[in-house]
Amino acid sequence: MQWRRREEVIGKEVVDSEAKKLGVTKDFAWSSDGRLALVIEAGEEEESFLSFDDIEKIGDVVFVKAKSALVVAPSVICPVCKNKNLVEAKFCAKCGRVLENRDEKKERKRPA
Ligand SMILES: [Zn+2]
Repeated sequence: MQWRRREEVIGKEVVDSEAKKLGVTKDFAWSSDGRLALVIEAGEEEESFLSFDDIEKIGDVVFVKAKSALVVAPSVICPVCKNKNLVEAKFCAKCGRVLENRDEKKERKRPA
């Protein structure tokens, strides 16, 4: 077994078994049942979680067993500072602005 430091994992490209780039590792996350995952940034507004169980190998890049292992993490973008927040978040984690829940927004747009 070999331990790895954060900086050896974060910022690396994530590729699938066909060497297709899926994103870049951004952070760690852990589940309610204590499992570790990587947060993968796949685009401007898209983040995914990748469980450590689904990592084939970590080398110069992170190899994933299957692309389907990535679970899209929904997020809410702060209108002020553009910080990505959890969908359940009531306030922006960075600037503290009140965030509108997407579902509430939809309801408001709906004509009475
Ligand atoms: Zn903000």
